[in-house]
Parts: sequence; structure tokens; C-alpha cells
Amino acid sequence: MIEFDGVVKRFGDLVVLDQLDFTVRRGEKVTLVGPSGSGKTTILRLLMTLEAVSSGTIRVDGEMLSHEQRGGKLVPAREKHLREVRKKVGMVFQQFNLFPNMNVLENITEAPIHVLGRSRDEARKRALDLLELVGLSDKATAHPSQLSGGQQQRVAIARCCAMDPKVMLLDEVTSALDPELVGGVLDVLRELAESTDITMLIVTHEMGFARDVSDRVLMFDHGRIIEEGTPEQIFNAPENERTREFLKAVR
Ligand code: ADP
Repeated sequence: MIEFDGVVKRFGDLVVLDQLDFTVRRGEKVTLVGPSGSGKTTILRLLMTLEAVSSGTIRVDGEMLSHEQRGGKLVPAREKHLREVRKKVGMVFQQFNLFPNMNVLENITEAPIHVLGRSRDEARKRALDLLELVGLSDKATAHPSQLSGGQQQRVAIARCCAMDPKVMLLDEVTSALDPELVGGVLDVLRELAESTDITMLIVTHEMGFARDVSDRVLMFDHGRIIEEGTPEQIFNAPENERTREFLKAVR
């Protein structure tokens, strides 16, 4: 579902991702861990086409992000191709990013109606189902400012799911929350991870959550994967000294 092949990302002289290769299978839940500045968020931003690679290729569900097939030739991707690829990928951000002028239901139905061309009725029905899934059926007509951070983040998760993405990217989705609100959001994500075959790429400092939901953990340092394995391998028996230091520091 996701394929990074020799990906390099530079900002000026700074090499943020250094010849990165990895794949994520359909339905797999993969967590990226590692010190701040190691390139984790950049990976998610590349997948969202918010940034472009300096070299190398990224494929999502078989489609290259930087190029497209046209008349039997590989040509630089045009906007139409990027729009199609973007539909496959949904992201939940640290800062929720809900539309403040719309109520909860409108936040969830906006993109399905205007981007996917769904009918209002259909989009509304799906949104109500998703609100039930995230435990907010009674908040459909509330505005984001009337909700707690944890509730806003659960709406953002429902909004992401409403687009039926093949890949869901989660970027430190609990770091802006008060500690007592973290559990509710993680419970919703655990439920989602268990009950769907959506592919998830997760950046988190919540190691307990990473352990529960991940099929695989990738440990990053300076834009490279320095160790990877199952959560048991990485959290119980890390082999790399940098991994051991990192885990000691975040626990
Ligand atoms: P992480 O998510 O692991 O904390 P990031 O991917 O956010 O790491 O950042 C990796 C490095 O890239 C950092 O050194 C950061 O300062 C740098 N960086 C990220 N985005 C930009 C940008 N737009 N311009 C310049 N440097 C950037």
C-alpha cells in the first residue's frame, strides 16, 4: 500500500531523509518512533503531497506520487493525478484542524459531498454512523468551540474516516490534549485499528498505544530506519543502542 524507494528529502543543505526504503502492506498498522527531528513528520507530509521528494520514489496503492503514466510514458504528476492520489490518503493532525465555522456534522460531510460527490443524505447517514463509532452522537449540531480537545480530535478522526481513505496517517494525535483526554482518543483509534483493514501509519510518543495497535515499529534516527521489528522486539528487546536510549528517555 505504501512504498518508499531510495527516498531522499533535503531542506537546503539539511538531509532530512537519507535513502529511505520501506514498505507497508495493505491493512498493516506501522508506527514510526524516534527522536524529535528524525524525519517522521516529513514522511507523513510527503505522503500527503504537502512536500515533494528531492529524489527517489514513493508509491501509494501502486501510484507514484511524483509521476503518472500518460500515453505509455512516465511524466511529472499533474494536479488531477495528485487529487486522485490524495483521495487514498487521510491524515489526522496534532491540532485537529476542524473548520471552526461549521458544526460537527458539516465538518464530516463537507469533503465527501464536495470532493467525492456523494449525496447529502448519504454523507449525512455515514457521518452519523461515524459519530456513533467515536462516541459523539449527541454532538452532531455542536460547533468545534463547544467541544473539548479530545472530542474535537474524535470528530477529526470521524472526518478522516468519512473519506474512506486506504491509508490513514496519524501525526501525534494526542500531544495537544490534556492528559485526562488522551485515553478516550486512543480507545477510539484502538477500536478502529482492530475493526477495519485500513492501513495506518502512526507517529506517536504514546508507547503503550504503539505496542497495542502496531504490527510493526520502525525506529528512526537522522532520517534513517535504524531498527525495525514487532512491538515486542522493539520495546522488550531492542538491539540498537540508540533505540535503547530513546525508549529509556520516553518511558
Ligand atoms: P520529526 O517528525 O521526527 O520530529 P520532522 O520530519 O518534523 O521530524 O523534521 C525533520 C527535520 O527536518 C528537522 O530538522 C526539521 O527542522 C527539518 N524540517 C522540517 N520541515 C522543514 C522545512 N519546511 N524547512 C526546513 N527544515 C525543515
